Amino acid sequence: MTLRVQKYGGTSVSTTNNIKKIAEKIAEDYSKGDDFVIVVSAMGETTDELINLAKQISDNPDLREMDKILSTGENISSSLLAMCFHNLGIEALSLTGAQAGISTDSFFSKAAISDIDPARIILEIEQRKIVVVAGFQGINDEKELTTLGRGGSDTTAVAIAASMGADICEIYTDVEGVYEADPRLIPNVSRIDRISYEEMLELSSEGAQVIHSRAVELAMVNKTPIFVGSTFSENKLGTLIQGSIDMENHSKVRGITHDRNVARITVSGVPDVPGIAAKIFAPLADSGISVDIIVQNTGFEGQSDMSFTVSEDSLDNALVHTEAIATELGARNVTGDASLAKVSIVGAGLQNSPGYAGTMFKALDLAGVNIEMITTAEISITCVIKQESVEAALNALNEAFLVNNTS
Ligand code: ADP
Ligand code: ASP
Ligand code: MG
Repeated sequence: MTLRVQKYGGTSVSTTNNIKKIAEKIAEDYSKGDDFVIVVSAMGETTDELINLAKQISDNPDLREMDKILSTGENISSSLLAMCFHNLGIEALSLTGAQAGISTDSFFSKAAISDIDPARIILEIEQRKIVVVAGFQGINDEKELTTLGRGGSDTTAVAIAASMGADICEIYTDVEGVYEADPRLIPNVSRIDRISYEEMLELSSEGAQVIHSRAVELAMVNKTPIFVGSTFSENKLGTLIQGSIDMENHSKVRGITHDRNVARITVSGVPDVPGIAAKIFAPLADSGISVDIIVQNTGFEGQSDMSFTVSEDSLDNALVHTEAIATELGARNVTGDASLAKVSIVGAGLQNSPGYAGTMFKALDLAGVNIEMITTAEISITCVIKQESVEAALNALNEAFLVNNTS
């Protein structure tokens, strides 16, 4: 008997008809003897709609209450899917994240899974029930509901697959796998058949929304392969994420990503003395705000400027903390810019091959895209640009690295 852990995303469960179709598809394999744990996202745009509801009440809603509201989206879709199985004469039940044994830390809206106890799931599976788990949520030590960050249902699925020793975690979505760039923005881009955890982690961390970066991280640590495929497509094509970097693809651009959720904070006139960076960034880290790219200008007359990026949705909160510490440090001024995005090329060995950076900058220049900040990592090169330049930048990078295959 094979245990299969599958996850179906928001578009896949966007209507009751779709949910019925998914149940029928699973029922066929269930009748052949496989066991199933199914993780679901909220229906369609439900999470966005719930956020909008809260914003009608408050510009800065309480994060605990937000997580309680947001978790309802996945509770609805998981119950509906369980009911579909009942209609098909199959024993099934839905579980919330807490009921499924998912414990998290206390960072509301971006909680990390700290532990998972699959005892309840195992108990139900042993009775041949299909277990449907509400994705994207867990519970902290104080028994408060938490959510795992946008796209977090992927992480729920991988965590369950890893904790139950499943051979693979299947992620079903609205595209036929992971592509070299977002197939909705760059038509005719190729699908990637196989990709290492490291390269996939870089692609998702730099914005490839198709899979949550923490899901890839968890899969890598636990050596759980992930298959990404399409929910409703007839063929079984998709992308297998596993193993380490394939030597044949070493020094190649594997993918191009973009992320529009980028904002920059600049602190001007910071005293140029040791310990300032720690003073600025510690309060941000303590409040769970991730800082991505940091640039400090060379000091002049005892002062320097510090710029860093955060996600656009954490800009307001980050500004509050930064302004407080800037006043304490006697910095001249703090500004925020929410109109930014980043584009990246990702592939093993890029950093050691200077040609890639040059080609990237030239391609952006020819497309009239101004580069605001640059950062390189071992397997990626990232440029911060204006949000309105994303399409032009992606097309230019596609031409330079994928279509003409110069890499
Ligand atoms: P789900 O609701 O199933 O979790 P998401 O919307 O989170 O689906 O992710 C799927 C979307 O990710 C696709 O519709 C596609 O537009 C986007 N995407 C971005 N980059 C990539 C990529 N490199 N490969 C495939 N899809 C991508
Ligand atoms: N429903 C959540 C979101 O829209 C989680 C997910 O879909 O994975 O971000
Ligand atoms: Mg998703």
